Amino acid sequence: MDLKAYIRDIPDFPKPGIVFRDITPVLAHPQGLPTVAKEIAAAFADQAIDYVVGIESRGFIIGTVVSHAIGCGFVPVRKPGKLPAAVHRVEYELEYGTDKLEVHQDAIAQGSRILIVDDIIATGGTAAATAKLVNLAGGELVGYGFMVELLALQGRQALPDVNVFSLITY
Ligand code: AMP
Repeated sequence: MDLKAYIRDIPDFPKPGIVFRDITPVLAHPQGLPTVAKEIAAAFADQAIDYVVGIESRGFIIGTVVSHAIGCGFVPVRKPGKLPAAVHRVEYELEYGTDKLEVHQDAIAQGSRILIVDDIIATGGTAAATAKLVNLAGGELVGYGFMVELLALQGRQALPDVNVFSLITY
């Protein structure tokens, strides 16, 4: 299916000047998530992935179907204060201010092969912070899978030197 035809542009959301790429019509299509899962999983089929790490919250939607397609585990990376057991935490820069992400300290078996998945890579700040969490938790980062990449923001340059795969680019 033509996934890009199901991504809707919402101008000036959440603030003036931002074009929000709304993926909810992809989710609503019966072939949307299966297509995304199949294509991201295929890109890493020979990589012996042990866990998909998905970033709250749209990364949970994409990441869980990718982990199912690969046949591996899923580990959530969450906003602060949501995970109940002991966590690793990273703080990272936003355009204005900072944000934090957390992962359970015991979520990943040492040396496991990790694929980080999110819906969209913009500046890459969120994805780079997630790589730090994977390191802290003892995983070996193998690559990234995104549904959408906003090329103008050059987010890839913020990421570690691993395979970065995106399905749709703007
Ligand atoms: P960044 O850390 O800048 O790469 O931003 C990544 C996160 O922000 C992703 O989880 C996206 O869901 C969200 N995001 C950033 N820019 C957009 C956009 N233009 N449209 C929709 N979501 C966005």
